[in-house]
Formats: sequence, C-alpha cells, structure tokens
Amino acid sequence: MKLVNLRQGGFIERNCSGKILKNPYISKIVSEADVIINLPKFKTHSLTVFTGGIKNMYGIIPSGQRRSFHGRYLRSEDFCQMLGDIYALAKPHLTIIDGIMAMEGEGPGSGKTRNLGLVLAGRDTVALDAVCAGIIGLKSGDVLTTRYAGERGLGISDLSRIDIAGEIFEDLAVNDFKLPVTFTRTAMNRAPHGPVKYILEQISPRPRVKKKNCTACGKCVKACPTGAAAMAGKNAAIDAKLCIRCMCCHEVCRFNAIYPGRPFFAP
Ligand code: SF4
Ligand code: SF4
Repeated sequence: MKLVNLRQGGFIERNCSGKILKNPYISKIVSEADVIINLPKFKTHSLTVFTGGIKNMYGIIPSGQRRSFHGRYLRSEDFCQMLGDIYALAKPHLTIIDGIMAMEGEGPGSGKTRNLGLVLAGRDTVALDAVCAGIIGLKSGDVLTTRYAGERGLGISDLSRIDIAGEIFEDLAVNDFKLPVTFTRTAMNRAPHGPVKYILEQISPRPRVKKKNCTACGKCVKACPTGAAAMAGKNAAIDAKLCIRCMCCHEVCRFNAIYPGRPFFAP
C-alpha cells in the first residue's frame, strides 16, 4: 500500500449545481479513484455538532479553499449545505467510522476523548452518520449535514428506515455523551424570530481565551473573518462587539486556548 498526500496529485475544477458551490476544486486522485473508502473519527464539532462521514470528505478540497470556506460560510446552515455539495461530488463506496476512542464536548479542537469502543461501517455514509448521532442522543435533524444530505437524496437520514446489523441499536445508546455547548447556537439558528430566538441568542456560547494556554501563534487572528480576534500583548483577545460566534478561532487553535463559554447567566 502506498500513502499519498492528496496535494501531490493536484486538484481539478468540478462544475456542479450544488446548493452553495458551483465550481469547487477537488482532489484529482479522489476524482479518478475506482473506489473511495472514507475513514472518519467519531467526534463532536462546534459548528456542525457532530462530524463523521459526510464532514470528513471536506478533506478532498485544497486546504486554502477549506480555510476560505470556513470564513465565507459562517452560518451552520450554509456550511453544512456546502459540505453536502462536496460530499455529492465524491460519494464514498464504503465509510468506516472509528468510534473506539471518540471525542465529546468541545470538538474538534478541544474536546475530550471518550472510549466508546465502536467501529461502524456502511455503504450509505448519510445513514451511518444518522446512526452515530442517534447513539449519542441527537434527534433526526439536529445534525444539519445529515439532515440536508437526506433531504437531497444523498442517503438515508431517517433512523427508522435504517437496518443496523451486528448490534441492537438501543444497546449502543450513550446517554451522557457531552455535546458542544455551541449546540444551543445551532438550535437558535433554527428558532423562529421573536422572544425565543432572543433568549437563545443571549445564552448562546461565545469564544473565550484561556490565556495560560495561548502561545501567541496568531492562527485565530488569521482565521477570524471579522477582525474580532486580535493579539493583545502576549495573548489573543476577542472583541465581543465584532464577534459573530462562528467559532473559526476555536477550530484553528491547536493549544486549547480558545473555548466556547456560556455567559454567566446561562443555564
Ligand atoms: S490560535 Fe490559540 S494559541 Fe494561537 S494566538 Fe490564537 S488563542 Fe493563542
Ligand atoms: S472571534 Fe468571533 S468572529 Fe472571530 S473567529 Fe472567533 S468566533 Fe468567529
């Protein structure tokens, strides 16, 4: 077996009639492959709540485009539709999700490992993601990547229509799996305008800097689309007035120095 960095094979422009993308670049190697086997981890994610098989295919586009899309598609709705566009261009033939050591809490950057001892495999990645979400107590529709892919006919997202072999689904339930605190924000985006939305807005998490972990690498400053993240002396600092809570800073920080924190009055 030969390991190849997809960058070495180059990228080709693909025209598509996606919900968001019209002509993204994808890996030439993936585009020409006879068989695609997708190997994601079982993790939480501050923007998509759960990241499994669909989100893993984000890795087939050039890294520069990945960064720019993170900055451009700030709402989880847009970001998840965009992930569906990429997934539709290269649907894996088999997806194997590694949930032996999963990540819960504030994934993908600063969550905690959680031993689930699970390996899930299937030819329908959408169904596989739906099963993973169900195992950790999420309802159909809570994970927008899965919901949108199901609505677009890219796979089955309705748990009641999925045949699970090997285990009894109810036996796999993990009732105390920690979701990212940004889950409230995802709910807020779906809430109708009015008092409920206002209250959710007030209690939704915002990025906080853990100064003792900050190495002043500046990655969060580069990733921030609004200029809210800036260096202040030896640490990064966030200007709450400019912050749109996209959590790009949290995602790029490799030192667990930015975490989504709730306001003190939130439940
Ligand atoms: S990315 Fe993290 S470590 Fe780097 S400056 Fe920002 S907060 Fe500090
Ligand atoms: S500081 Fe706010 S706007 Fe900037 S990347 Fe972080 S969450 Fe997004």
